[in-house]
Amino acid sequence: MGRTQRLRQRRAPKDTTHPVDHELDSLHVLYAHLNCLGWRNTTQLSALHFPQTGRGLCSKRQRLRPGNELIRLPANCLISIATLEADDQFRALFNKDLFDKDARISFQALVACYLMHQQHLHETSQQSTLGAYLDTLPRSYTMPYFCAMSELQCLPEALLERTVGQNRQIREYYQIIKTLVGTQHCECCGQLYCQDIWTLAEYKRAYFAVNSRSVYLNPRQLKPARCHFQSLLSGDTNMALAPFLDLFNHSDSVQTTAELSPNGKGQDYVLTLDTAAKSELQPYEQLFISYGALPNLKLLTDYGFYLERNAHDFFEFSLSDIEQLIAQNRKLAAQTYHRNIFKFIREHNLYDQMFVHIDDGCSHNLRVVLHLIFKQQAYFPNVLNQIAFGDVAQFDDVQPELSYLVAHKISEYQGFVKALNQLPQLTESGVVARSYLLECVRYLSDFESSVHCQSNE
Ligand SMILES: [Zn+2]
Repeated sequence: MGRTQRLRQRRAPKDTTHPVDHELDSLHVLYAHLNCLGWRNTTQLSALHFPQTGRGLCSKRQRLRPGNELIRLPANCLISIATLEADDQFRALFNKDLFDKDARISFQALVACYLMHQQHLHETSQQSTLGAYLDTLPRSYTMPYFCAMSELQCLPEALLERTVGQNRQIREYYQIIKTLVGTQHCECCGQLYCQDIWTLAEYKRAYFAVNSRSVYLNPRQLKPARCHFQSLLSGDTNMALAPFLDLFNHSDSVQTTAELSPNGKGQDYVLTLDTAAKSELQPYEQLFISYGALPNLKLLTDYGFYLERNAHDFFEFSLSDIEQLIAQNRKLAAQTYHRNIFKFIREHNLYDQMFVHIDDGCSHNLRVVLHLIFKQQAYFPNVLNQIAFGDVAQFDDVQPELSYLVAHKISEYQGFVKALNQLPQLTESGVVARSYLLECVRYLSDFESSVHCQSNE
């Protein structure tokens, strides 16, 4: 949600006093639209630009405390499975007879189609019911997914892996959508779907709009008894887009809950502030919600931002990080490592969950893996098995290899930053990715000088 504007704002030239007035204007139209649908804005929320985050929400008059509701949005303001099912024109695009049980798409992928459908109506005939909402969506996103090719070549494996995964998924869904809808011509303008209107570039943008701005819903809620799209969908319809509400930025220092609650006539989607760092939030102070206890890697790849000193952050290593360390460290490279050990680690998924945490130290699996590789001589599977699943205390000493690994990663990330700096220019995604890498370097350096990274713990 909302946070994709933050770095753009930070980079805006100083003399541009109101760089984003048109965005706030479009919010007034949305505000009026939601009001017609029954939203009463009881907490007097208003969108403002905040220096730290860009666009965000505050209350203009109320002081809010933990326990207070932040927003109460009528369920008919949400864009949910009920919205898609109720739209005859949209449903008609998807011929049920063509649905293939081996070629399904996620609900998120279908909602992305719905956004494109409404966007086209909005552009050609001004008849979209979502026009006001569509105008408030960001025009671009800052996930690494949108980095230029030259920037992607300067990113670490961990980021590329996710980006490649997202790309595979998006292309797979787009192919299915093309098979179902692609050969149809639009009734209003005669253009061909998936060639002229629902282009792959448009689909990517819509996909990430949904990915970064949706809220969770219980899959049974708001779902009509008869669902046209049922056999097209691979998973639950457990999300919705929530206009205006999606302007709340995320913070790691608050806890919020969301629920559908009856309001007499229907239901409201209610967000409540459970805990916050402060006991009272003043008018005009930005109000945050929690998207979950998410580490920076996830925030960056899914939402296009990260938090400095994120309380939920940790740094994950892969087995190839350790292999690279061995290859590059003269002392470690001089030793021999039996291939059975690596085979054993892979077969038992011990490479999963290998991470360091600034407060909790080195994860169990990382300890076990470092121990198996560097601290013992056995290589018969049955002996390795006894060691790996035996006494935990034996894994206490993982130095100096843990320090080597952390230092290796710091220098690797510094190298990526340097490579990005050498590019003639960076996209917005490139700028965000570079500052994320610097935050990782900061995190690992803090870890390196913490008690967890000293010998003889
Ligand atoms: Zn058309």
